[in-house]
Amino acid sequence: MAPIKLAIIGGGPSSFYVASRLLSLLPASNPYHSSLKIHMYDRLWAPHGLVRYGVAPDHPEVKNCTHKFNEAASDPRLSFFGNVNVSSSPSVSPIPHAVPLSLSSLFPHYTHLLLSSGCTIPNYHPALPPSSHCIPALSMVHWYTQHPAVAHKPPPPLEKIEHVSLIGQGNVSLDVARMLLTPPSTLEKYDVPESVLEVLRRSAVQHVSIIGRRGPLEAAFTTKELREMMNLEDSYMVPVDPCLMVPNAGEKLTRQQSRTLQLLQKGSKNKPGSTPKSWSLEFFKSPTGLAVPSSELESSSSSRPLTLSLANNTLNEARKAIPTGETSTLDTSFVVTSLGHHADPSTPWFEPALGHVRTVGGRVVNEHGQTVKNVYSSGWASMGARGVLASTMMDAYAVADTILADSFPGEFRKEEDDADTKVAESEQRDNVAQGVLPSEVDWESLPEEVVKARKGGLVTDYQNWRLIDAEEIRRGEVKGKERERMSWEEAKVFLDVAKRT
Ligand code: NAP
Repeated sequence: MAPIKLAIIGGGPSSFYVASRLLSLLPASNPYHSSLKIHMYDRLWAPHGLVRYGVAPDHPEVKNCTHKFNEAASDPRLSFFGNVNVSSSPSVSPIPHAVPLSLSSLFPHYTHLLLSSGCTIPNYHPALPPSSHCIPALSMVHWYTQHPAVAHKPPPPLEKIEHVSLIGQGNVSLDVARMLLTPPSTLEKYDVPESVLEVLRRSAVQHVSIIGRRGPLEAAFTTKELREMMNLEDSYMVPVDPCLMVPNAGEKLTRQQSRTLQLLQKGSKNKPGSTPKSWSLEFFKSPTGLAVPSSELESSSSSRPLTLSLANNTLNEARKAIPTGETSTLDTSFVVTSLGHHADPSTPWFEPALGHVRTVGGRVVNEHGQTVKNVYSSGWASMGARGVLASTMMDAYAVADTILADSFPGEFRKEEDDADTKVAESEQRDNVAQGVLPSEVDWESLPEEVVKARKGGLVTDYQNWRLIDAEEIRRGEVKGKERERMSWEEAKVFLDVAKRT
């Protein structure tokens, strides 16, 4: 059987779960143990993607998965190449210091490819283009996790913002709301960079309105996250209109819907009016525009200088939001849109209509519907930005199983899928396009650009990361917190010194 030399694009949870599964299914006792080599590329210098640069700091338990990732990375068959931007247009990168590497330079060195670069582009609302008054939630998340893409950008001007309008009612929206309303003294013990805490300490935010186009039964957030909002120590929830919490006669609610209604009916731990800060859920409203004051003078005379126009909605039979014709306005100081994400359109085999890579059962499919031999995709790059870490893991394991079943058919069989998936997959297996990857490669070779950048100290490996990780935790301990993060510049200096000593 031909060996697998796999390049993984992306170093987030899905990539690590695929790698971990492949490595563990080919243990030392397996005859194909040495027939596997994995090179994981990420444009970020630190591994773990959304686990480092997405998970809300007050959810540290979610980051426990990194133990498994460390274990996978300790296997010599897996190598991590950080700060390398692999793309069909690598010079266009949000990370200025990332080493550009074109896909065509990568292909000759690998027999297999896994696209696992996630969904990194926020969805925008046509009525709310990004501006100095309106930013995507991703920018807020990048700010409070100090993502390299925002390294030299100014923080959100929270000292001037009294009221925030969050558009969208998913978990990212609630993450942002919690970060804005949780007292900085509570956040201090978590992995929140000192520069972020400083801005939060100066914050003037008093109220966050979380606006959804549909109702409580359709809200995308989960009950655990809603409960956390209800228990915020310094804020109360403005009660939801009871009329909005009555299901249609005979309607059977899911467990999630029943719990959401129970929580909303019970209300927040703090009674309305009992705390200085507050938040509200505004249901059945879609933004239609944002009026901005025409002069500095006008804007400085009000703490809520912006006017958000909203259209009232009802639901049609398919539970889609449709306008009733009624409208309202909301005075606000800042708008954050949190409407989900899609994959970068420059990702190969990206399908614009889907917002992610075209796949069937983890195998990448070209525009003619043919399977691209030995090219796979997993995680949000393959299925869109949905699901939690556990679902990402299940998807990744299934993709790893597919890779092994395709490569070593006599040795590995995939878990039985449902009948429809089996039919789709078997049709796909017989419809294979001309391959883009060679079937035989130099086992040790690397793209020239990577070899050169590595010599220049521009590419991080997992050993580098373990050193940084330990140092960030040590710096955090000194301050009584989970960790104090390093920027790329700090990490480079630290690694240079570590190399010399
Ligand atoms: P999401 O769950 O898809 O939520 C997106 C929100 O935007 C929904 O309320 C959606 O409303 C709304 N929306 C989309 N297009 C809109 C439009 N044109 N106008 C008005 N509203 C619109 O996305 P997310 O919050 O980015 O989260 C992504 C995934 O990560 C989810 O699976 C989430 O659970 C997960 N996540 C989990 C955690 C956690 O476990 N703590 C934290 C963060 C993220 P409709 O429902 O009407 O479309």
